[in-house]
Amino acid sequence: MGTYLERVIPHVFGKRVEKILQFEGGQSNPTYYFMDDKNNQFVLRKKPSGQLLPSAHAVEREYRVIKALAKTDVPVPPVYHLCTDHAVIGTPFYVMKYLQGRILTDIALPQCSPSERTAIYQELISVLARIHNVGLAGVGLADFGPAGNYYERQIGRWTKQYEGSKTKEIPEMDKLIKWLPNNIPTQKETTLVHGDFRLGNVMFHPTEPKIIAVLDWELSTLGHPYSDLSYLCLPYHTPAIATIPGFGNINLEKLGIPVESKIIELYCKLRSLPKISNWNYFIAFSLFRGAGIFQGIAKRAELGNASSANAKAIGAATALYAARGWEKAIQSDPFIQTQELFPFSPKFAPLRKKLLEFMDEHVYPNEETYAKQHNALPTRWAIPPIMEELKIKAKEAGLWNLWLPGVSGLTNLDYAPLCEIMGRSFIAPEIFNCSAPDTGNMEVLHRYGSPEQKEKYLKPLLEGKIRSAFCMTEPEVASSDASNIQTSIVRTDKGYLINGRKWWSSGAGDPRCSIFVLMGKTNPKAPAHLRQSMILVERDTPGVKILRTLSVFGYDDAPHGHSEIVFENVLVPLENMILGEGRGFEIAQGRLGPGRIHHCMRTIGTAERCLELMVRRIHQRRTFGKLIAEHGTIMQDVARSRMEIDQARLLVYRAAHAMDTMGNIVARDQIAMIKAVVPQMALKVIDRAIQAHGGAGVSSDFTLAYAYAGIRTLRLADGPDEVHERTVAQLEYQKQFSKL
Ligand SMILES: Cc1cc2nc3c(=O)[nH]c(=O)nc-3n(C[C@H](O)[C@H](O)[C@H](O)COP(=O)(O)OP(=O)(O)OC[C@H]3O[C@@H](n4cnc5c(N)ncnc54)[C@H](O)[C@@H]3O)c2cc1C
Repeated sequence: MGTYLERVIPHVFGKRVEKILQFEGGQSNPTYYFMDDKNNQFVLRKKPSGQLLPSAHAVEREYRVIKALAKTDVPVPPVYHLCTDHAVIGTPFYVMKYLQGRILTDIALPQCSPSERTAIYQELISVLARIHNVGLAGVGLADFGPAGNYYERQIGRWTKQYEGSKTKEIPEMDKLIKWLPNNIPTQKETTLVHGDFRLGNVMFHPTEPKIIAVLDWELSTLGHPYSDLSYLCLPYHTPAIATIPGFGNINLEKLGIPVESKIIELYCKLRSLPKISNWNYFIAFSLFRGAGIFQGIAKRAELGNASSANAKAIGAATALYAARGWEKAIQSDPFIQTQELFPFSPKFAPLRKKLLEFMDEHVYPNEETYAKQHNALPTRWAIPPIMEELKIKAKEAGLWNLWLPGVSGLTNLDYAPLCEIMGRSFIAPEIFNCSAPDTGNMEVLHRYGSPEQKEKYLKPLLEGKIRSAFCMTEPEVASSDASNIQTSIVRTDKGYLINGRKWWSSGAGDPRCSIFVLMGKTNPKAPAHLRQSMILVERDTPGVKILRTLSVFGYDDAPHGHSEIVFENVLVPLENMILGEGRGFEIAQGRLGPGRIHHCMRTIGTAERCLELMVRRIHQRRTFGKLIAEHGTIMQDVARSRMEIDQARLLVYRAAHAMDTMGNIVARDQIAMIKAVVPQMALKVIDRAIQAHGGAGVSSDFTLAYAYAGIRTLRLADGPDEVHERTVAQLEYQKQFSKL
């Protein structure tokens, strides 16, 4: 080798290799220290001998990237030469300068003071951010790996690697292999990634908390930058096993080691990122990849060519990493567990993914835009332009009218989690044409409308061109009992003549609302359940007068609104009658089944969002020496909220499934149950969130007060709790009596 080096790098190398030592650790590419006859010191990295998996141990790539980075602010060792000729030492290798510094292998940094530890971790993040900020084209690395699809490639690669080196069955690995590729977050940028960025792979200045070289670029490529960051953060999620680092239960604050959220915060600051969404996915992947790496080491240990004595013990960590990875996957998407309990259709999963992405990309970021535009409009009863823009986008994305099984091909069960996702944002349901009362009214027209009624009203409603209102409740009578409804509908030669007064007609304030579904009496003398009918009334019909908008705890709900409307000698064509005279109750049943369950699904989404807001807030403020999140009573509030949301959700899914499999009539006890349970549950959750926010919770700076007001009405709208509980009790009596 001496002769060879003398020939290829005469400017730095003398004549002979005087001393050669192998570095400890380095599981993959054996690394050596050597000195020449002039006391020049070098490091050599080579491929391991023996049979290798293809694409692994590419020292040629390492050499290329280190050389390219010499021109950047990323600290790297000077590299001198790459030898691809197997004849020299049996495998390809490269030579770089030996640097004197500190390799700090123990992540707890026992030799350092707390302030040094903080500085060291901050430097680590700063260098990682610099790696990810490298302009690829400028340093000739634009083709260092394929652009995009990083996680697809990585999951494929590590799956193959894992399966190629499998020594035993690990069920969690199989689950991750199935779940990870179907849930990859959209990749927004491609950067250089190191692939093994950790404390032990950088060299610090001998005395200062400053990195002088990033080492071991074997796994570097172009890819998703969060893969490096999440890998670096793995010790926050694992205990120490053999030589694999893990913080376990170490008190990081006391040691001066930044907690994971601080690491992410600093990284985002250095890279001008607003935040990192779905962090748990990235951690799940990193644990999966870690398991894949360990499995490779275990296999090599079996074959006898691993370069570490610890290889066997490290191999045993595979199962633990896989288990933690699966746990993180569940935390990334707790829905995984529910999904295993219910038979969702094959259409469901891809739609859910698409909807989640749409929410992230278009809905949440535009909530503020919507509010700002609304406030800037000359009247509160006009539509912020962003709404129609987002509707077009939702249509294009195929996320339109998902609520209607006949149109979307989804089951009620499929729709439940999708509707929940929409319920997380006050603007979302309308964006997807899935909002009340339109869905209920469309349901009526879809099920019971004549072909002409469908053409004239259902079509534009389904296209999102017009909106509608449902006019049943009346100020003069207790409308919980629909048989009390007094509005008269009289058949004449010219059409039906309508007289009456309605209130709480939601959506009637919307300038696009052009059609009302009205309930009234056609035959006061018929048996109670045959007296009422439903008829279509165009808003502009003479005699229709919108008197005022009712407020909900002071909110006007503009531009939607809940109106009080007088119908004075309103004449509508005979063909506007739906299904036939006296069929109003029958239609109401058909309308309210799906409509009620949709309210419940959305309400679960609202509760989830409020719990999220609560958890975020209590981790930002401190009282009496600790985070609010650390006080026992607050923890109990969070725990109860989680338990109650999950209970209610299961009940909703069960009801949705019952509707799909047994029909709305048989499922009516379950629909009644959820209609009473869900709003009550959500109110408790929101109330706790308000409490944890302190004064801010009841202000308009947060959405909690508005959410509370909105959900409180659901204990009344579509029937008060007591009416649904009455149904549950009556059905319970029937069940019990049938046993006697
Ligand atoms: C924000 C909002 C939006 C609404 N949107 C619409 C809409 O779009 N279209 C529409 O037609 N209506 C709508 N409503 C009206 C709603 O459906 C009614 O308010 C509800 O059905 C109750 O009728 P009521 O107000 O006449 O109360 P009442 O019938 O007077 O009942 C008052 C109370 O009596 C009690 N009660 C009633 N029955 C029983 C019983 N069997 N056992 C024990 N206690 C009982 C309950 O506590 C009930 O809240 C909306 C209401 C609100 C608040």
